[in-house]
This record gives sequence, structure tokens and C-alpha cells, in this order.
Amino acid sequence: MRAIEAAAAGAPPRLVWRTAEVLSVTEETRRVRTLALDVPGWPGHLAGQHLDVRLTAADGYTAQRSYSIASAPEAPHVELTVQQLEEGEVSPYLAHDVRPGDRFEVRGPIGGHFVWAASQGGPLFLIAGGSGVVPLMAMLRHRAAAGSTVPALLLHSSRTIADIIFRDELDALVAAGDGLRVIHTLTDAPPADWTGYRRRIDRAMIEEVGFPPAATPRCYICGPSGLVETAARALVELGHAPALVKTERFGPTGG
Ligand SMILES: Cc1cc2nc3c(=O)[nH]c(=O)nc-3n(C[C@H](O)[C@H](O)[C@H](O)COP(=O)(O)OP(=O)(O)OC[C@H]3O[C@@H](n4cnc5c(N)ncnc54)[C@H](O)[C@@H]3O)c2cc1C
Repeated sequence: MRAIEAAAAGAPPRLVWRTAEVLSVTEETRRVRTLALDVPGWPGHLAGQHLDVRLTAADGYTAQRSYSIASAPEAPHVELTVQQLEEGEVSPYLAHDVRPGDRFEVRGPIGGHFVWAASQGGPLFLIAGGSGVVPLMAMLRHRAAAGSTVPALLLHSSRTIADIIFRDELDALVAAGDGLRVIHTLTDAPPADWTGYRRRIDRAMIEEVGFPPAATPRCYICGPSGLVETAARALVELGHAPALVKTERFGPTGG
């Protein structure tokens, strides 16, 4: 809550490095894990914000990367959900090697643009590619925790069915019947009985499933740069106000 109060007062909380301890590690998919962290002194966050992780090797070498906060502001712990990039420097540690009890530094929360609070209302139109679902999941978790029933749609692109992050939890949120729809598209080898979309997110898909511009949805797009650019351009071309289209880019290609 302190982050919300500070943001409301126009003063972002001061950024300091804090030592986080890994409390638990949960496997989400073959390449994606969620870390629950204990961060003494954490000032709180808004759904959609991220933090910086800093790893320090025994010889003093440091590497720093940004990770979205997956947990809702209401959750007891800060959670990160990290996808392992085979040739990556930092993600293999966070998504594969890390164990409960490990410690590393974090700094945050960061970002005041790509955030949603239930008090802002909806509809909420979320578009994700791969691990780009992480900050959007924080928004959906916050929506549920706050008891918000604003109409919400998550359009989520994954490679295969096994790569869909948070699939069971998303199914459960939809089953609550409080106005959330989730639509998956698979870009790589869908099973024969897959009846959903089987291509990358494009303008036709967004027009077909999305809210019409007249509904003035708040749109949040997150994922690899190509997906973010395609989706943002499509939304604006379809007539959505640019000010309502917010984007967060995770990386150059995959994601
Ligand atoms: C605001 C923000 C939030 C982010 N949140 C998350 C998150 O919640 N979960 C998550 O898994 N990642 C997230 N990322 C991406 C993350 O910061 C790292 O870029 C990613 O983990 C790769 O780091 P690395 O050290 O393993 O790879 P690097 O050693 O930095 O890169 C290895 C190779 O992979 C390429 N590459 C770098 N990033 C990506 C990418 N995202 N996709 C595909 N190729 C890439 C590089 O060009 C390079 O060729 C976020 C990025 C930003 C900017």
C-alpha cells in the first residue's frame, strides 16, 4: 500500500538495493519458474511494475536485469516469473539454478506508466506474448483480489500448449465468472484437437476478439518487441485512443 500512497502523492519511493531471499521456487513450464521472495523493507508495488535484479559473483562481477512483478500488490510476497533463455547470462540462474534460501539484490518497484489499479476501472484489454503475461497476470490477480468485476480480456500468445504460463490459474480465474475472458493462440505445433487460434497475434485477431474502441478499454501489451509493435499499431489503426494503449517490451525477439 505504501507504493500506492507515494504514487498518489506524486513521489515515487526511493530506490535502494535490498537483499531478497528466495522462499520458494515453483515450476510453471519447462523453461519458466516463479520465485517467491522475502524482501525486508519492500515498500509495496502497483500491478504492472517491475524491479531490477542484481547478481554478484564471487569475484565481484555483477549482472543486472529487469523483471516484472508477478504477484498482486495484495500478495504476502514479491513474486518473479522468469523464462530461461538458453544463452542468457541471468535468466538461467533465476529460472533453473536458484534454490530456496539463495539471496540476491533487488531494487524497486520501478515504472509508473505500465500500471493498473482497480480504482481506474475498465474494460481491461491485455495482450501478451510468452513471458509478457507476467505483469498482466499481476493486474488480473489484483483485479481478483480487489473484487473488481470490470470486463477484462487476456489475449495470450504462446509457442505450444505446454508453454502457456499460468494456464491453470487463468482457467480458475475465468471459471469464477466475474467478467474475465482468456483467449490463447499457439504459434508452434498446436495439438490436432486444438480449436483455438494457431498463429501470431495480428490485427484481424485483435479486432475479432477485442473490445470495440467505443468501449474505451485500457489496453496493456507486453512481450517481445515485434508483438508489442504489431499489437499497438493494430489497436490504434482500429480506432483505440493512443493514450489508452500502454506497452512494455521484454526483449528483442522471443519471449
Ligand atoms: C521492464 C522489463 C520487464 C521484464 N520482465 C521479465 C519477466 O517478468 N520475466 C522474464 O522472463 N523476463 C523479463 N524481462 C526480460 C529480462 O530483463 C531479461 O532480458 C531476460 O531474462 C534475459 O536475460 P539474460 O541475462 O538471461 O539474457 P542476456 O544474456 O541478456 O541475453 C542473451 C541473448 O538473448 C537475447 N534476449 C535478451 N532478452 C530477451 C528476451 N526477453 N527474449 C528473447 N531474447 C532475449 C539477447 O539479445 C541475447 O542475444 C523483462 C525485461 C524488461 C525490460
